[in-house]
Amino acid sequence: MEKGMISVDRWSEGSQVYFLTHLHADHTNGLSSTWKRGPLFCSRITAKLFPFKFPGFKLSLLRVLEIGQWHSISLVSPTTGSDTTVNVMAIDAHHCPGAVMYLFRGEFGCMLYTGDFRWEPTNTRAQIGRSMLHNAIGNDKVDILYLDNTYCNPSYSFPSREVAAKQVVDVIASHPDHDIVIGIDSLGKEDLLLHIARVLKMKIWVWPERLQIMHLLGFHDIFTTKISQTRVRAVPRYSFSIDTLEGLNIMRPTIGIMPSGLPWVVRPLAGNNNIFGLSPSSFHHRSKLSAKAQRFACIQNLNEDSRAVEKYHEYIYTVPYSDHSCFEEIKEFVKLVQPTNMKGIVASSFSYVDPLYYFGHLLRVNLQSKRLSKNFERKGGESVEAVHTKSTLENDRSAEARMKRKTREGDLLGVHVSRVSILRRIRCGAKILELD
Ligand SMILES: [Zn+2]
Repeated sequence: MEKGMISVDRWSEGSQVYFLTHLHADHTNGLSSTWKRGPLFCSRITAKLFPFKFPGFKLSLLRVLEIGQWHSISLVSPTTGSDTTVNVMAIDAHHCPGAVMYLFRGEFGCMLYTGDFRWEPTNTRAQIGRSMLHNAIGNDKVDILYLDNTYCNPSYSFPSREVAAKQVVDVIASHPDHDIVIGIDSLGKEDLLLHIARVLKMKIWVWPERLQIMHLLGFHDIFTTKISQTRVRAVPRYSFSIDTLEGLNIMRPTIGIMPSGLPWVVRPLAGNNNIFGLSPSSFHHRSKLSAKAQRFACIQNLNEDSRAVEKYHEYIYTVPYSDHSCFEEIKEFVKLVQPTNMKGIVASSFSYVDPLYYFGHLLRVNLQSKRLSKNFERKGGESVEAVHTKSTLENDRSAEARMKRKTREGDLLGVHVSRVSILRRIRCGAKILELD
């Protein structure tokens, strides 16, 4: 792919067409109601929600892509100046409502951009997505995979959302006399809330704008803005803090539940020692927790699933409910795609690792050499396996060197893709508002 043709989740000038994977803020950074740089392709659900997020946006620029169908787009090759065709398919990313990944084919080859995604092994929608992607790739090869590497680290192991949702219900059911506050984003976690409402047979309070989104998504009877109708409230993440919970407990016994794949710790923000932040550091640096958090930190294993519910504060539970794939799921995804090359779409985070570091051996060329070496091994003994091992190690080392160079995404094939700023990632709690 060449510069000047396609941008995914990136909104600067210079492309002929633009693609949006989903409506979380870190993927729409630079997009506004007055944006008019070219046609914007997205899924049908994203298009439905789009005017709510960007009122006044010129809707004639929106192009809806039906999931699972190839669409042809006529463009001009920036190098030759002649007409060229790009084919694209949107595939359900099962991340938040409307989220899709895009598979592109054109004169540049074949490219897959996942956006944020979660494909659990047991999930039906993920299984449909997997076979859709498998069939769409066919006998072709994916030249480059742009991958959601949010949790691309072996320390990120958490259960399916189905299991995590049951954990949330367990926490709520074990506090029958408490009010419950759940931290959510402006989009996402709907399935969790629906599960709670169905199992516990209760409505769920959401704030007025969130109710409008629920209505746009077709959920009309489950959510309410009347506090008197329920003891379970889904609140914006930015309002979810120790201060808030302590204040609420003066009036009524209340617990907070934070659903997230990231372990949550109490970290001081500038000028605020009491807001909940995020960090993978709770695995490794519990000693850095504030004294208050340490006093209350304890782990309650409500079942035997990996990463159980944790209680970091007298009033706050965290549940490993994630809309991003965990490490093992990312690995399975890379095995499925077998790309020639790959790159993470999250430029930096506390745990950022270039996916090549862990999954370089799964690249097509390395898998082929592995198969080859195994054939030789069967025929010729151990010496060939030793050669293969060496080449794998070299690949890992070069991947590490690449990671350190911190190349900008999009350089490899000239595709402009989203770059989450290091600052936004490092700033404690930034992800609370925008990701997951
Ligand atoms: Zn997202």
